[in-house]
Amino acid sequence: MKRFIQKTVALLAMAVLGGVVAAPQAEAAKRPNVVFIFTDDHSAHAISSYGSRINKTPHIDRIAHEGMRFKKCYVTNAICGPSRAVILTGKHSHLNGFMRNGGTPFDGSQQTFPKLLRKAGYETAMIGKWHLKSVPTGFDHFDVLIGQGPYYNPPMRTTDAAGEVVVEKNVGYTTDIITDKGLDWLKNEREGDKPFMLMLQHKAPHRNWQPGPAHLNTFDGVEIPEPETLWDDYSGRTKAAANQTMTIARHLSANDLKLNAGPNNLTPEQKKLWDAAYGPKNEAFRKANLQGRERIKWMYQRYIKDYLRCVQSVDDGIGRVLKYLDDTGLAKNTIVIYSSDQGWYLGEHGWYDKRWMYEESLVMPFVVRWPGVIEPGSINDDIVSNLDFAETFLDIAGAQIPGDMQGRSLLPLLKGDTPSDWRKTFYYHYYEFPGAHSVARHYGVTDGNYKLIHFYQNEDWEMFDLTADPNELQSIYGRSEFAGIQSRLGEELKRLRAHYKVPEQDPENIRPNQRRNRQNNRKK
Ligand code: CA
Repeated sequence: MKRFIQKTVALLAMAVLGGVVAAPQAEAAKRPNVVFIFTDDHSAHAISSYGSRINKTPHIDRIAHEGMRFKKCYVTNAICGPSRAVILTGKHSHLNGFMRNGGTPFDGSQQTFPKLLRKAGYETAMIGKWHLKSVPTGFDHFDVLIGQGPYYNPPMRTTDAAGEVVVEKNVGYTTDIITDKGLDWLKNEREGDKPFMLMLQHKAPHRNWQPGPAHLNTFDGVEIPEPETLWDDYSGRTKAAANQTMTIARHLSANDLKLNAGPNNLTPEQKKLWDAAYGPKNEAFRKANLQGRERIKWMYQRYIKDYLRCVQSVDDGIGRVLKYLDDTGLAKNTIVIYSSDQGWYLGEHGWYDKRWMYEESLVMPFVVRWPGVIEPGSINDDIVSNLDFAETFLDIAGAQIPGDMQGRSLLPLLKGDTPSDWRKTFYYHYYEFPGAHSVARHYGVTDGNYKLIHFYQNEDWEMFDLTADPNELQSIYGRSEFAGIQSRLGEELKRLRAHYKVPEQDPENIRPNQRRNRQNNRKK
């Protein structure tokens, strides 16, 4: 209640003053910079500080070890564009309007945190993957991939000296180019006297996982451990889990597996390296003529190695950014964050991709370094979310947090002081069905120990005991011994839907995307 009154007073003050007043310059100089490094589809369990069994990410680990690692950062809607829209607005998908990748473009005229940060005296830049279809708003500078963007030689959209949007060509590996552009902005392009917010957003390690020249042969000769649930038969859940189309066994294309001619946009030098890497490996695969499980095991190895190779380039780039911050002394007053738009399946349940409320895709990696404020080596297990990022950035900048944002500033948590009324439960909602990978629409609630999921188009329910069954293989929905928990979570789900103003019926703009569906059918 106290917070509500504070917010109300603040809103009234804002209304009277007609907007957020920029802090005086001297005070502004002391406020920390933020470098927000963000990737697409990087699962926390492919980060060594999160306990990865399959790779090492020394530079992301460094951020975690010198700062705070969040164990339960949950995404509200586990898919690329919607996650980004939530981050920009601090509002759930049904309010910011970007509910699915295949829907309408992000409405950039709405309130977003970069706009508010600018008003508060921050210089803002967005470099890399934007993925919201519309032209970025709220940034002093942007240089973004067009749509998904390719892994090599990406055209990027930026503005020229006259402020007109133009497309520029680039030659090189996209992850390296985005890192270079971020460093170039830090070194040469920002004004320098203002605190800044740099959003450095990679395409990697999004499908179809094309490694860069530096890592084309990383993991050669290494057997990556298989996940426990690679051979899941989905028997313990509703039919939703069985009906998807994201299995390693049946839904990876020749393009995904690098069994075709390779990317068609490489320079001759790049093509030479590519063919030298994949040619002999593919030849050996063809000769082996693997069948059945042996063939699927090979496909898992090919998939996971390419994914991890893409991650290694991201980690290398983070190392370069951290070194630059060290070398220039900027590190001292710069918050460095690493996160990714959702989690991802690294063969768990036999899958690649995301979308589900199950743990692997629900959990976002989220590590934050803030010298002098965050106790190094901290681990936080409160329930936090991408819904909280906008509020946190505004709070860090000393700007007002608008009352219609739905998350909450993480500033007290970063200082090691979680408020006693911090959220104990979390609301999730995925909408993109029909759509790519055929994952049924669902919403649900979790308290971190139990999870209740409603596949509402079929009136199917699942519930999991995350302690006894961390892999979520056996739904306990409807079992009498869990009736009390089921009832409590059911009530909480209703309360959260009302609290977040979720409409009873999905909004009109969720329609099957015919073009996308046709493309998917062709791929099969
Ligand atoms: Ca994504």
